[in-house]
Amino acid sequence: MAKSLHAVMVPFPVQGGINPLMQLAHLLSERGFFITFVNTEWCHRRMLDAGGHALQQPAEGFRFLTIPDGLPAKHERYTDLITYLRALENLAPVLEQRLLVTLSEGIPPITCIIGESYMSCTYQLALNLRVPRVVFWTMCAALSISQFKAELLLSRGHIPVKLGEAKRAENLITCLPGNLPPLLPTDLISFYRAESASDALVKRFLYESQMQNKGDYVLVNTVEELEGREAVAALSINGCPAMAVGPLFLPNFLAHRDVVRSTSMFAEDESCLEWLDAQQPASVIYVSFGSTAVKSKQQLEEIALGLENSQRPFLWVLRKDIAQGEPGILPQGFLERIRDRGLIVRWAPQVKVLSHPSVRAFLTHSGWNSVMESFSFGIPMLGWPYFMDQFLNCRFVKDMWKIGMDFEGVDVDENKLVTREEVEKGVRRIMESEEARQRVFKLKEAAMKAVNPGGSSFLNLNKFVEEITQIAKSFAR
Ligand code: UDP
Repeated sequence: MAKSLHAVMVPFPVQGGINPLMQLAHLLSERGFFITFVNTEWCHRRMLDAGGHALQQPAEGFRFLTIPDGLPAKHERYTDLITYLRALENLAPVLEQRLLVTLSEGIPPITCIIGESYMSCTYQLALNLRVPRVVFWTMCAALSISQFKAELLLSRGHIPVKLGEAKRAENLITCLPGNLPPLLPTDLISFYRAESASDALVKRFLYESQMQNKGDYVLVNTVEELEGREAVAALSINGCPAMAVGPLFLPNFLAHRDVVRSTSMFAEDESCLEWLDAQQPASVIYVSFGSTAVKSKQQLEEIALGLENSQRPFLWVLRKDIAQGEPGILPQGFLERIRDRGLIVRWAPQVKVLSHPSVRAFLTHSGWNSVMESFSFGIPMLGWPYFMDQFLNCRFVKDMWKIGMDFEGVDVDENKLVTREEVEKGVRRIMESEEARQRVFKLKEAAMKAVNPGGSSFLNLNKFVEEITQIAKSFAR
Protein backbone atom coordinates (compact mmCIF):
# COMPACT_ATOMS: atom_id res chain seq x y z
CA MET A 1 0.00 0.00 0.00
CA ALA A 2 1.44 3.42 -0.96
CA LYS A 3 1.67 5.58 2.12
CA SER A 4 0.99 9.27 2.16
CA LEU A 5 1.58 9.94 5.87
CA HIS A 6 4.96 9.95 7.55
CA ALA A 7 5.80 9.89 11.26
CA VAL A 8 9.32 10.54 12.50
CA MET A 9 9.62 8.71 15.81
CA VAL A 10 12.24 9.76 18.34
CA PRO A 11 12.43 7.51 21.41
CA PHE A 12 14.29 8.20 24.61
CA PRO A 13 17.32 5.96 24.08
CA VAL A 14 16.76 3.35 26.79
CA GLN A 15 15.01 0.00 26.30
CA GLY A 16 11.90 1.07 28.20
CA GLY A 17 11.62 4.15 25.95
CA ILE A 18 12.34 2.41 22.65
CA ASN A 19 9.87 -0.47 23.12
CA PRO A 20 6.63 1.51 23.40
CA LEU A 21 7.58 3.83 20.53
CA MET A 22 8.34 0.80 18.36
CA GLN A 23 4.96 -0.64 19.32
CA LEU A 24 3.27 2.62 18.35
CA ALA A 25 5.26 2.71 15.09
CA HIS A 26 3.76 -0.62 14.04
CA LEU A 27 0.23 0.43 14.89
CA LEU A 28 0.67 3.63 12.87
CA SER A 29 2.22 1.72 9.99
CA GLU A 30 -0.91 -0.41 9.95
CA ARG A 31 -2.92 2.81 9.70
CA GLY A 32 -1.09 4.13 6.65
CA PHE A 33 2.01 5.85 8.04
CA PHE A 34 5.49 5.56 6.63
CA ILE A 35 7.81 5.34 9.65
CA THR A 36 11.23 6.85 10.23
CA PHE A 37 12.52 5.44 13.51
CA VAL A 38 15.47 7.29 15.00
CA ASN A 39 18.11 5.50 17.06
CA THR A 40 21.32 6.83 18.49
CA GLU A 41 24.45 5.16 17.16
CA TRP A 42 25.17 3.82 20.64
CA CYS A 43 21.79 2.07 20.86
CA HIS A 44 21.97 0.96 17.24
CA ARG A 45 25.30 -0.77 17.86
CA ARG A 46 23.90 -2.57 20.90
CA MET A 47 20.81 -3.65 18.92
CA LEU A 48 22.99 -5.08 16.15
CA ASP A 49 25.15 -6.89 18.71
CA ALA A 50 21.98 -8.40 20.19
CA GLY A 51 20.96 -9.70 16.74
CA GLY A 52 18.50 -7.02 15.58
CA HIS A 53 18.28 -8.12 11.95
CA ALA A 54 15.33 -5.85 11.16
CA LEU A 55 17.66 -2.88 11.46
CA GLN A 56 19.43 -4.01 8.29
CA GLN A 57 16.29 -5.20 6.53
CA PRO A 58 13.48 -3.03 7.80
CA ALA A 59 9.87 -4.05 7.19
CA GLU A 60 8.13 -2.39 4.28
CA GLY A 61 7.24 1.19 5.05
CA PHE A 62 9.90 1.47 7.77
CA ARG A 63 13.36 2.95 7.83
CA PHE A 64 15.87 3.40 10.64
CA LEU A 65 17.94 6.56 10.95
CA THR A 66 20.92 6.65 13.26
CA ILE A 67 22.46 9.75 14.73
CA PRO A 68 25.40 10.26 17.10
CA ASP A 69 24.35 11.27 20.62
CA GLY A 70 27.51 13.34 21.00
CA LEU A 71 29.03 11.21 23.80
CA PRO A 72 32.05 8.91 23.61
CA ALA A 73 31.15 5.23 23.05
CA LYS A 74 32.35 4.24 26.52
CA HIS A 75 30.45 6.96 28.41
CA GLU A 76 28.28 5.52 31.24
CA ARG A 77 25.04 6.95 29.94
CA TYR A 78 22.67 5.58 32.58
CA THR A 79 24.82 6.38 35.58
CA ASP A 80 25.69 9.89 34.38
CA LEU A 81 22.12 10.84 33.52
CA ILE A 82 22.67 14.61 33.56
CA THR A 83 25.31 14.48 30.85
CA TYR A 84 23.12 12.08 28.88
CA LEU A 85 20.07 14.35 29.10
CA ARG A 86 22.13 17.40 28.14
CA ALA A 87 23.57 15.60 25.14
CA LEU A 88 20.10 14.50 24.02
CA GLU A 89 18.74 18.02 24.40
CA ASN A 90 21.13 19.20 21.68
CA LEU A 91 20.22 16.68 19.01
CA ALA A 92 17.83 18.89 16.99
CA PRO A 93 20.40 20.21 14.43
CA VAL A 94 21.97 16.84 13.67
CA LEU A 95 18.58 15.20 13.45
CA GLU A 96 17.22 17.91 11.16
CA GLN A 97 20.19 17.60 8.89
CA ARG A 98 19.96 13.79 8.70
CA LEU A 99 16.26 14.03 7.93
CA LEU A 100 16.67 16.61 5.21
CA VAL A 101 19.45 14.78 3.38
CA THR A 102 17.64 11.45 3.52
CA LEU A 103 14.23 12.59 2.31
CA SER A 104 14.09 11.25 -1.21
CA GLU A 105 11.55 10.30 -3.78
CA GLY A 106 9.23 7.60 -2.56
CA ILE A 107 9.27 8.88 1.03
CA PRO A 108 6.20 10.94 1.87
CA PRO A 109 6.66 14.42 3.35
CA ILE A 110 6.82 14.43 7.14
CA THR A 111 3.39 14.60 8.77
CA CYS A 112 4.54 14.87 12.39
CA ILE A 113 7.40 14.31 14.82
CA ILE A 114 6.50 11.92 17.63
CA GLY A 115 9.01 12.40 20.41
CA GLU A 116 9.18 10.66 23.75
CA SER A 117 8.28 13.29 26.32
CA TYR A 118 11.90 13.62 27.53
CA MET A 119 13.24 14.22 24.03
CA SER A 120 12.97 17.98 24.31
CA CYS A 121 15.00 18.35 21.10
CA THR A 122 11.90 17.34 19.15
CA TYR A 123 10.31 20.70 19.98
CA GLN A 124 12.94 22.67 18.03
CA LEU A 125 13.06 20.02 15.34
CA ALA A 126 9.31 20.21 14.69
CA LEU A 127 9.45 24.00 14.77
CA ASN A 128 12.23 24.09 12.16
CA LEU A 129 10.50 21.56 9.92
CA ARG A 130 7.12 23.29 10.39
CA VAL A 131 5.31 20.13 11.37
CA PRO A 132 3.34 19.29 14.53
CA ARG A 133 5.15 17.94 17.57
CA VAL A 134 3.47 15.02 19.32
CA VAL A 135 4.51 14.59 22.95
CA PHE A 136 4.43 10.91 23.81
CA TRP A 137 4.33 9.94 27.50
CA THR A 138 5.72 6.47 28.13
CA MET A 139 4.93 6.68 31.85
CA CYS A 140 1.49 6.39 33.44
CA ALA A 141 -0.77 9.46 33.37
CA ALA A 142 -0.56 10.15 37.12
CA LEU A 143 3.23 10.31 37.13
CA SER A 144 3.25 12.21 33.85
CA ILE A 145 0.96 14.87 35.36
CA SER A 146 3.30 15.30 38.32
CA GLN A 147 6.19 15.87 35.89
CA PHE A 148 4.15 18.05 33.50
CA LYS A 149 3.16 20.25 36.47
CA ALA A 150 6.59 20.27 38.14
CA GLU A 151 6.74 24.09 38.16
CA LEU A 152 3.51 24.15 40.17
CA LEU A 153 4.94 21.62 42.61
CA LEU A 154 8.08 23.71 42.93
CA SER A 155 6.04 26.83 43.70
CA ARG A 156 4.09 24.93 46.38
CA GLY A 157 7.27 23.63 48.00
CA HIS A 158 6.71 19.96 47.05
CA ILE A 159 9.90 19.98 44.95
CA PRO A 160 12.60 19.21 45.92
CA VAL A 161 11.49 16.21 47.95
CA LYS A 162 13.17 15.98 51.33
CA LEU A 163 13.08 12.34 52.29
CA GLY A 164 13.24 13.10 56.03
CA GLU A 165 9.89 14.96 55.81
CA ALA A 166 8.26 12.80 53.17
CA LYS A 167 6.03 10.88 55.58
CA ARG A 168 4.40 13.97 57.15
CA ALA A 169 0.67 14.13 56.42
CA GLU A 170 0.75 17.87 55.60
CA ASN A 171 3.11 17.10 52.74
CA LEU A 172 0.46 15.20 50.78
CA ILE A 173 0.18 16.59 47.25
CA THR A 174 -3.38 17.60 46.44
CA CYS A 175 -2.89 20.47 43.98
CA LEU A 176 -2.55 18.43 40.79
CA PRO A 177 -5.31 18.28 38.15
CA GLY A 178 -6.79 15.17 36.56
CA ASN A 179 -8.78 13.94 39.55
CA LEU A 180 -5.68 12.25 40.95
CA PRO A 181 -5.72 10.78 44.44
CA PRO A 182 -3.44 12.69 46.85
CA LEU A 183 0.17 11.86 46.00
CA LEU A 184 2.95 11.18 48.47
CA PRO A 185 6.17 13.16 48.01
CA THR A 186 7.93 9.85 47.37
CA ASP A 187 5.59 9.21 44.43
CA LEU A 188 7.29 11.96 42.43
CA ILE A 189 10.12 11.21 40.02
CA SER A 190 12.93 10.07 42.27
CA PHE A 191 15.34 12.65 40.82
CA TYR A 192 13.39 15.34 42.66
CA ARG A 193 14.75 13.93 45.92
CA ALA A 194 17.35 16.54 46.81
CA GLU A 195 18.38 19.08 49.38
CA SER A 196 17.75 22.11 47.18
CA ALA A 197 16.11 23.21 43.96
CA SER A 198 19.52 24.12 42.55
CA ASP A 199 20.50 20.44 42.51
CA ALA A 200 21.63 19.68 38.95
CA LEU A 201 19.17 16.82 38.35
CA VAL A 202 16.26 18.77 39.79
CA LYS A 203 17.06 21.66 37.45
CA ARG A 204 17.36 19.25 34.56
CA PHE A 205 13.96 17.71 35.17
CA LEU A 206 12.35 21.12 35.66
CA TYR A 207 13.75 22.15 32.28
CA GLU A 208 12.31 19.00 30.70
CA SER A 209 8.96 19.84 32.28
CA GLN A 210 8.92 23.25 30.61
CA MET A 211 9.61 21.63 27.26
CA GLN A 212 6.92 19.00 27.86
CA ASN A 213 4.49 21.92 28.00
CA LYS A 214 5.12 22.74 24.31
CA GLY A 215 3.53 20.71 21.57
CA ASP A 216 0.48 20.09 19.43
CA TYR A 217 -0.80 16.66 20.39
CA VAL A 218 -0.33 14.36 23.39
CA LEU A 219 -0.37 10.57 23.45
CA VAL A 220 -0.13 8.54 26.65
CA ASN A 221 0.71 4.85 26.92
CA THR A 222 -2.03 4.05 29.41
CA VAL A 223 -5.65 2.91 29.56
CA GLU A 224 -8.52 5.34 30.21
CA GLU A 225 -10.41 2.68 32.13
CA LEU A 226 -7.51 2.42 34.59
CA GLU A 227 -6.47 6.02 35.12
CA GLY A 228 -9.56 7.96 34.02
CA ARG A 229 -10.16 10.20 31.05
CA GLU A 230 -9.68 13.30 33.21
CA ALA A 231 -6.14 12.29 34.12
CA VAL A 232 -5.19 11.89 30.48
CA ALA A 233 -6.91 15.17 29.55
CA ALA A 234 -4.85 16.96 32.24
CA LEU A 235 -1.80 16.39 30.02
CA SER A 236 -3.26 18.53 27.25
CA ILE A 237 -0.96 21.37 26.19
CA ASN A 238 -3.00 24.56 25.80
CA GLY A 239 -6.17 22.62 25.04
CA CYS A 240 -4.68 20.30 22.39
CA PRO A 241 -5.99 16.72 22.28
CA ALA A 242 -4.50 14.25 24.79
CA MET A 243 -5.27 10.58 24.21
CA ALA A 244 -4.70 7.29 26.03
CA VAL A 245 -3.62 4.68 23.49
CA GLY A 246 -2.18 1.87 25.61
CA PRO A 247 -1.11 -0.71 26.38
CA LEU A 248 0.59 -0.29 23.01
CA PHE A 249 2.30 -3.67 23.07
CA LEU A 250 -1.00 -5.53 23.37
CA PRO A 251 -2.54 -5.13 19.89
CA ASN A 252 0.79 -6.16 18.38
CA PHE A 253 0.96 -9.17 20.67
CA LEU A 254 -2.61 -10.15 19.78
CA ALA A 255 -1.70 -9.87 16.08
CA HIS A 256 1.33 -12.16 16.70
CA ARG A 257 3.77 -9.39 15.82
CA ASP A 258 7.03 -9.68 17.73
CA VAL A 259 8.00 -6.07 17.14
CA VAL A 260 10.52 -5.25 19.86
CA ARG A 261 12.95 -8.01 19.08
CA SER A 262 14.50 -6.02 16.24
CA THR A 263 15.25 -3.10 18.54
CA SER A 264 16.22 -5.01 21.67
CA MET A 265 19.60 -4.07 23.11
CA PHE A 266 19.83 -7.46 24.82
CA ALA A 267 19.90 -10.91 23.19
CA GLU A 268 16.72 -12.73 24.19
CA ASP A 269 17.12 -16.20 25.64
CA GLU A 270 14.13 -18.15 24.35
CA SER A 271 15.15 -21.33 26.14
CA CYS A 272 13.16 -20.18 29.15
CA LEU A 273 9.91 -20.75 27.22
CA GLU A 274 10.62 -24.48 26.97
CA TRP A 275 11.49 -24.48 30.64
CA LEU A 276 8.15 -22.79 31.38
CA ASP A 277 6.35 -25.41 29.27
CA ALA A 278 7.63 -28.04 31.68
CA GLN A 279 6.28 -26.28 34.79
CA GLN A 280 2.86 -26.63 36.44
CA PRO A 281 0.18 -24.07 35.50
CA ALA A 282 0.35 -20.86 37.58
CA SER A 283 3.31 -22.08 39.61
CA VAL A 284 6.24 -19.84 38.64
CA ILE A 285 7.40 -16.48 39.94
CA TYR A 286 9.06 -14.39 37.23
CA VAL A 287 11.77 -12.04 38.51
CA SER A 288 13.15 -9.12 36.51
CA PHE A 289 14.33 -5.61 37.30
CA GLY A 290 14.15 -4.21 33.77
CA SER A 291 16.94 -2.85 31.65
CA THR A 292 18.75 -0.35 33.87
CA ALA A 293 18.18 -1.04 37.60
CA VAL A 294 21.25 -2.23 39.48
CA LYS A 295 21.61 -4.12 42.78
CA SER A 296 24.56 -4.66 45.11
CA LYS A 297 26.26 -8.03 45.29
CA GLN A 298 24.98 -8.44 48.85
CA GLN A 299 21.41 -7.67 47.77
CA LEU A 300 21.57 -10.16 44.92
CA GLU A 301 22.71 -12.82 47.35
CA GLU A 302 19.71 -12.13 49.57
CA ILE A 303 17.37 -12.33 46.57
CA ALA A 304 18.93 -15.63 45.51
CA LEU A 305 18.55 -17.17 48.96
CA GLY A 306 15.04 -15.77 49.40
CA LEU A 307 13.97 -17.32 46.08
CA GLU A 308 15.60 -20.60 47.06
CA ASN A 309 13.92 -20.66 50.47
CA SER A 310 10.49 -19.80 49.03
CA GLN A 311 10.44 -23.30 47.53
CA ARG A 312 8.67 -21.93 44.44
CA PRO A 313 9.78 -22.42 40.84
CA PHE A 314 11.33 -19.19 39.59
CA LEU A 315 12.59 -17.65 36.37
CA TRP A 316 15.08 -14.89 37.11
CA VAL A 317 16.46 -12.37 34.62
CA LEU A 318 19.95 -11.55 35.80
CA ARG A 319 21.38 -8.98 33.41
CA LYS A 320 25.14 -9.10 32.91
CA ASP A 321 25.46 -5.55 34.20
CA ILE A 322 23.02 -5.80 37.13
CA ALA A 323 25.80 -5.66 39.72
CA GLN A 324 27.79 -3.13 37.66
CA GLY A 325 30.50 -5.58 36.75
CA GLU A 326 30.94 -7.26 40.16
CA PRO A 327 31.91 -10.90 39.66
CA GLY A 328 30.58 -13.97 41.48
CA ILE A 329 27.26 -12.51 42.50
CA LEU A 330 25.45 -15.75 43.32
CA PRO A 331 25.97 -17.63 46.61
CA GLN A 332 28.18 -20.69 46.57
CA GLY A 333 26.45 -23.86 45.44
CA PHE A 334 23.27 -21.93 44.59
CA LEU A 335 22.98 -22.96 40.95
CA GLU A 336 23.49 -26.58 41.87
CA ARG A 337 20.86 -26.49 44.61
CA ILE A 338 18.13 -24.79 42.55
CA ARG A 339 18.82 -26.71 39.34
CA ASP A 340 15.48 -28.53 39.38
CA ARG A 341 13.38 -25.57 40.38
CA GLY A 342 14.88 -22.36 39.06
CA LEU A 343 16.20 -20.90 35.82
CA ILE A 344 18.41 -17.88 35.35
CA VAL A 345 18.68 -16.08 32.00
CA ARG A 346 20.43 -12.88 30.92
CA TRP A 347 17.38 -11.46 29.13
CA ALA A 348 13.96 -13.00 28.55
CA PRO A 349 11.27 -12.48 25.91
CA GLN A 350 9.27 -10.84 28.70
CA VAL A 351 5.90 -10.51 26.99
CA LYS A 352 5.96 -14.19 26.01
CA VAL A 353 6.97 -15.10 29.55
CA LEU A 354 4.20 -13.09 31.19
CA SER A 355 1.61 -14.54 28.83
CA HIS A 356 2.74 -18.10 29.61
CA PRO A 357 0.20 -20.13 31.63
CA SER A 358 2.91 -21.36 34.04
CA VAL A 359 3.59 -17.85 35.38
CA ARG A 360 1.65 -16.85 38.47
CA ALA A 361 3.35 -13.66 39.75
CA PHE A 362 6.03 -11.08 38.89
CA LEU A 363 8.73 -9.68 41.17
CA THR A 364 9.39 -6.45 39.30
CA HIS A 365 11.16 -3.09 39.56
CA SER A 366 7.78 -1.61 38.55
CA GLY A 367 8.85 0.00 35.29
CA TRP A 368 5.70 1.17 33.51
CA ASN A 369 6.10 -1.18 30.55
CA SER A 370 6.54 -4.11 32.89
CA VAL A 371 3.51 -3.11 34.96
CA MET A 372 1.28 -2.87 31.89
CA GLU A 373 2.59 -6.11 30.44
CA SER A 374 1.93 -7.81 33.75
CA PHE A 375 -1.64 -6.67 34.32
CA SER A 376 -2.53 -7.24 30.65
CA PHE A 377 -1.94 -10.95 31.26
CA GLY A 378 -3.55 -11.05 34.70
CA ILE A 379 -0.26 -11.38 36.62
CA PRO A 380 -0.12 -9.80 40.13
CA MET A 381 3.07 -7.99 41.10
CA LEU A 382 5.50 -7.79 43.97
CA GLY A 383 7.04 -4.36 43.43
CA TRP A 384 10.59 -3.30 44.20
CA PRO A 385 11.12 0.14 42.66
CA TYR A 386 14.58 1.44 41.88
CA PHE A 387 14.26 4.96 40.48
CA MET A 388 12.45 7.45 38.25
CA ASP A 389 8.67 6.76 38.03
CA GLN A 390 8.86 3.28 39.57
CA PHE A 391 7.92 4.40 43.09
CA LEU A 392 4.55 5.77 42.01
CA ASN A 393 3.87 2.78 39.77
CA CYS A 394 4.60 0.42 42.64
CA ARG A 395 2.41 2.32 45.09
CA PHE A 396 -0.51 2.60 42.69
CA VAL A 397 -0.28 -1.13 41.95
CA LYS A 398 -0.53 -1.79 45.68
CA ASP A 399 -2.78 0.96 47.09
CA MET A 400 -4.95 2.21 44.21
CA TRP A 401 -5.40 -0.74 41.90
CA LYS A 402 -4.74 -3.41 44.54
CA ILE A 403 -3.11 -5.78 42.08
CA GLY A 404 0.11 -6.27 43.98
CA MET A 405 2.30 -5.76 47.03
CA ASP A 406 5.69 -4.32 47.91
CA PHE A 407 8.48 -4.43 50.47
CA GLU A 408 8.06 -2.03 53.37
CA GLY A 409 10.47 0.88 53.39
CA VAL A 410 12.18 0.55 50.01
CA ASP A 411 10.43 3.76 48.95
CA VAL A 412 12.34 6.02 51.34
CA ASP A 413 15.57 4.21 52.08
CA GLU A 414 17.81 3.74 49.08
CA ASN A 415 20.31 1.72 51.08
CA LYS A 416 17.79 -0.62 52.65
CA LEU A 417 18.78 -4.23 52.32
CA VAL A 418 15.78 -6.47 51.70
CA THR A 419 16.68 -9.64 53.55
CA ARG A 420 16.30 -13.20 52.32
CA GLU A 421 13.47 -13.67 54.85
CA GLU A 422 11.60 -10.69 53.42
CA VAL A 423 12.10 -11.92 49.86
CA GLU A 424 10.87 -15.38 50.81
CA LYS A 425 7.83 -13.99 52.62
CA GLY A 426 7.04 -11.56 49.78
CA VAL A 427 7.23 -14.31 47.17
CA ARG A 428 4.96 -16.59 49.18
CA ARG A 429 2.42 -13.82 49.81
CA ILE A 430 2.13 -12.72 46.19
CA MET A 431 1.97 -16.31 44.95
CA GLU A 432 -0.89 -17.04 47.35
CA SER A 433 -2.83 -13.78 47.11
CA GLU A 434 -6.30 -14.47 45.72
CA GLU A 435 -7.44 -10.86 46.10
CA ALA A 436 -4.69 -9.40 43.90
CA ARG A 437 -5.27 -12.17 41.39
CA GLN A 438 -9.01 -11.57 41.12
CA ARG A 439 -8.52 -7.84 40.72
CA VAL A 440 -5.79 -8.14 38.14
CA PHE A 441 -7.98 -10.44 36.05
CA LYS A 442 -10.56 -7.65 35.86
CA LEU A 443 -7.90 -5.23 34.72
CA LYS A 444 -6.68 -7.70 32.13
CA GLU A 445 -10.18 -7.78 30.67
CA ALA A 446 -10.36 -3.98 30.61
CA ALA A 447 -6.98 -3.73 28.86
CA MET A 448 -7.99 -6.32 26.24
CA LYS A 449 -11.25 -4.51 25.63
CA ALA A 450 -9.51 -1.14 25.30
CA VAL A 451 -7.18 -2.25 22.50
CA ASN A 452 -9.65 -4.35 20.52
CA PRO A 453 -11.80 -2.79 17.74
CA GLY A 454 -14.34 -0.45 19.33
CA GLY A 455 -12.31 -0.12 22.57
CA SER A 456 -11.12 3.21 23.99
CA SER A 457 -7.44 2.97 23.03
CA PHE A 458 -8.27 1.58 19.60
CA LEU A 459 -10.67 4.43 18.86
CA ASN A 460 -8.31 7.04 20.33
CA LEU A 461 -5.52 5.93 18.05
CA ASN A 462 -7.79 6.15 15.01
CA LYS A 463 -8.85 9.61 16.13
CA PHE A 464 -5.22 10.63 16.48
CA VAL A 465 -4.51 9.58 12.89
CA GLU A 466 -7.48 11.59 11.64
CA GLU A 467 -6.73 14.67 13.70
CA ILE A 468 -2.97 14.81 13.24
CA THR A 469 -3.47 14.63 9.48
CA GLN A 470 -5.68 17.73 9.69
CA ILE A 471 -3.32 19.52 12.08
CA ALA A 472 -0.38 18.77 9.76
CA LYS A 473 -2.31 20.32 6.86
CA SER A 474 -2.81 23.51 8.84
CA PHE A 475 0.97 23.65 9.48
CA ALA A 476 1.72 23.23 5.78
CA ARG A 477 -0.39 26.24 4.79
N1 UDP B 1 12.19 -6.71 28.97
C1 UDP B 1 12.42 -7.84 28.22
N2 UDP B 1 13.15 -8.84 28.78
C2 UDP B 1 13.64 -8.81 30.04
C3 UDP B 1 13.39 -7.66 30.81
C4 UDP B 1 12.65 -6.63 30.25
O1 UDP B 1 11.99 -7.93 27.07
O2 UDP B 1 14.30 -9.76 30.43
C5 UDP B 1 11.42 -5.60 28.36
C6 UDP B 1 10.05 -5.48 29.00
O3 UDP B 1 9.13 -6.31 28.32
C7 UDP B 1 9.75 -4.00 28.86
C8 UDP B 1 11.13 -3.34 28.86
O4 UDP B 1 12.08 -4.37 28.60
O5 UDP B 1 9.09 -3.74 27.64
C9 UDP B 1 11.46 -2.70 30.19
O6 UDP B 1 10.71 -1.55 30.34
P1 UDP B 1 10.24 -1.06 31.77
O7 UDP B 1 9.50 0.22 31.57
O8 UDP B 1 9.51 -2.10 32.49
O9 UDP B 1 11.59 -0.83 32.58
P2 UDP B 1 12.99 -0.10 32.25
O10 UDP B 1 13.85 -1.10 31.59
O11 UDP B 1 12.70 1.10 31.38
O12 UDP B 1 13.50 0.27 33.61
